[in-house]
Amino acid sequence: MIRKLLLLAAAGASLGFNVVRDVGGDGPIVFATPSVTMELQQNGSADIGDGSDLQAIRDAMNEWNQVACSSFQFVDGGTGTSRGIGADGINRITFLENNWPGYAAGAGAFTLRERVSGSPDRWTEFDIQINGQDTSWATDGSAQLPDIRSAVVHELGHGLGLQHASHPEASMYFSVRLGTTFARTLHADDAAGVCYLYPTQSFSCRTDDECPLLHGSYGGPNARTRCSGGTCVEGSAAPYGSGCFESGHCASGLCLVDPLEPPASEPGFCSEPCPSGTCPSGDYCASTSSGPRCIVGRDDCAEDADCGGNPNVCARQLDGRFTCQRLCLRNSACMSVPGAVCHGGTGENPAGFCRVPGAGAPGTPCEHGLQCASLSCSAGGVQPTCDDSVPGYDGTVLPPPDASVPDTAVPPNDAGRADAASRDAGGPLSDDAETLMPGRDAGVTIGLDTNEAPIDLVGSGCRCTPQMRRHPWSFALLLFGVLGLAPRRRLRKPGH
Ligand SMILES: [Zn+2]
Repeated sequence: MIRKLLLLAAAGASLGFNVVRDVGGDGPIVFATPSVTMELQQNGSADIGDGSDLQAIRDAMNEWNQVACSSFQFVDGGTGTSRGIGADGINRITFLENNWPGYAAGAGAFTLRERVSGSPDRWTEFDIQINGQDTSWATDGSAQLPDIRSAVVHELGHGLGLQHASHPEASMYFSVRLGTTFARTLHADDAAGVCYLYPTQSFSCRTDDECPLLHGSYGGPNARTRCSGGTCVEGSAAPYGSGCFESGHCASGLCLVDPLEPPASEPGFCSEPCPSGTCPSGDYCASTSSGPRCIVGRDDCAEDADCGGNPNVCARQLDGRFTCQRLCLRNSACMSVPGAVCHGGTGENPAGFCRVPGAGAPGTPCEHGLQCASLSCSAGGVQPTCDDSVPGYDGTVLPPPDASVPDTAVPPNDAGRADAASRDAGGPLSDDAETLMPGRDAGVTIGLDTNEAPIDLVGSGCRCTPQMRRHPWSFALLLFGVLGLAPRRRLRKPGH
């Protein structure tokens, strides 16, 4: 109950969300009834042997179920053997360890939605496929692997009708980073989205941030809505940080493309000038060819060049925000960052990041790893908690934290560990002397929902691309007005 109240309160701080426009109407496409039963393919992930994979999926469903202002419920329909998708009357979540479909090539996970055309259009079913063929998965917050629960929260959001959000801290942001778990818990934007689509009573807005960006996936214009007399109506005067498709959607007249340069089908965000160098929410004030502009969800950088060069990069922090972070292979490389350890470091590439452990002891409720002494918010049930792992890598294989080992059972290699640690601390094997390569997701890991509007079948979901998609970001002010209004092909081209 505490958590439900928190989510309700948080929903008031939304910056906006994105839904699929019903071509024949002026509202969104939703399920006719706010209850969808999910069948879990019984084998789960081949990477997980302790059942935590299926539990992660159930926890992800519960994350959406507990939003107080929403009536939507995912119902656990138990496990089954089929991996089938399409219009078979069953909403299924399955891992595919081989025969990953070509239409989702490169994707880490994929949601296939179906709808019936009518007045209004309705979603009728969806299925989620997760790529176990090309991607290894984790449930324990492993710093170099994608998190099953976070990915499923995102895909379920597509399933119930949401598109991608503009804020990097939202679970519905188009990109996720390996090793982060913040997307397990919904951001205010995500909660506002499900409450708009499936309100507990008839919908009545109070503020503009409770109204959606309408994505014209099936046709019709992309539109910004605002609250007028309790109803969301088309109209554009969105405040800083809101999602937008064109400059006219923003009160500032500035709709900027996300620095990660998603495809043109994705929303941008309303920016504003920052001549004094300060921005709302502590966001980054970037220098652009048109003057200083605020960049949503970034603390101190928009691209690597803002961070002073290797080994510093502009990467997603464990809370979802982008910050300048130092790459490392082991703890000794992090001495310039007070209190930091090399999170995700293994002594070899891909590199980890120098991060400062938080205060949370094991079992402490958390929303992201920075709140935890272990840097890992990956334990617990519906409410994630800090786990008891040991963060960082000191150059040796760390002994397991096993309290059952009696004091007399001193590991025989203790002396060796000490030697290795002291050598690294002052020796020539510092990371500065090595070539550091960030993890494969240093640019972007997830794709998007291009939603090229097939007639009766639409794909959506996430693409965890194995390759970096990192272009030099020009601040050429690629206003979404131009890109968002580009002609749409009527092809069956599922997005990801
Ligand atoms: Zn997605």
